[in-house]
Amino acid sequence: MGEITEKAYGKINLYLDILRKRDDGFHDIYSIMQLVTLCDEVHIETNNGEGINVTVLNDDLGIPMEKNLAYIAAQKFYDNLENTLVETSTRANITITKNIPVTAGLAGGSADAAAVLRGLNKIYGYPYTKKELCDLGMEVGSDVPFCIIGGTHVCKNKGDVEMGLGGLQNFRILIACSGEKESTGKQYQKLDEKFNNFVDYGISLGFSETIGALMNREYRRSLTSMYNVFETLYEDDENVQRTKKLLYDNYARFVMLSGSGPALFAAFDDIFLLEDAQAVLEKEGIKCYPCDLIQEEYELYPKRPPIKSVYDDVKWV
Ligand code: ATP
Repeated sequence: MGEITEKAYGKINLYLDILRKRDDGFHDIYSIMQLVTLCDEVHIETNNGEGINVTVLNDDLGIPMEKNLAYIAAQKFYDNLENTLVETSTRANITITKNIPVTAGLAGGSADAAAVLRGLNKIYGYPYTKKELCDLGMEVGSDVPFCIIGGTHVCKNKGDVEMGLGGLQNFRILIACSGEKESTGKQYQKLDEKFNNFVDYGISLGFSETIGALMNREYRRSLTSMYNVFETLYEDDENVQRTKKLLYDNYARFVMLSGSGPALFAAFDDIFLLEDAQAVLEKEGIKCYPCDLIQEEYELYPKRPPIKSVYDDVKWV
């Protein structure tokens, strides 16, 4: 029997563009994702084979347990164990403490699913490699592979995690949620209509520039080329535009939508400016989540002890 608690951090998109619509209906994206400290907590405890159970504390997602991405992730984990050396009849009770706002563009559900995959992999003695975990994650959702690995990464195609980057630094982040959002699928559908199914699209001008600026640690410059194609869906959304204006009026250096929205993330130079802005927004009834940018990836496997050499104890003269 095993037990573990995993943090499930949310993400923001420093860049998000669509290159084309694929034949399978999904989209090839160019994205840069970064973890933030706003997180759910996922507690996993194995049981004697009484099946997978998921309980969500402090949020009613309004969906049956079997539709919870954490449940689907656990199911994939157990279903594929027959391809590994692990044989077990045990299953897991999963309890999620929900803090990440739902359907906001912060990948809360994907973060929970990823935490389940990481946690179960640890409990059962690491039956899956990093790639296998990501492949299982991709079957749950396009953002799950990134949420398994964390840090800051360039993600391409459907959501494949590619180059690791040093993330955005030196800013305090305020996430502000206003406005209603339809499902991510519906938002993609709206973009398809707006951009004629992305026929003859295929390039994204600011992508390399943003990557280059982050690699050179030119954080302020990186803000000038960041982009999110979903912003075009919110041009007439009064709530989102009003929140954006309030943030800029209160000295945010940069404000952009995260994922398919409607959450906005704002970068502030210091915590005092952020707190003042937060007070103004909250007075207007806008939900705010102050957080920090995370640079580190998750530790998926135990660190190996350093290899001891026979020469370690030799005194050289
Ligand atoms: P993304 O940024 O990946 O598009 P999102 O932040 O917009 O995701 P989520 O909060 O992940 O959206 O929720 C998306 C959908 O998934 C919602 O309809 C929600 O009901 C469902 N869902 C399933 N499991 C979870 C979970 N554990 N936490 C939150 N939502 C979940």
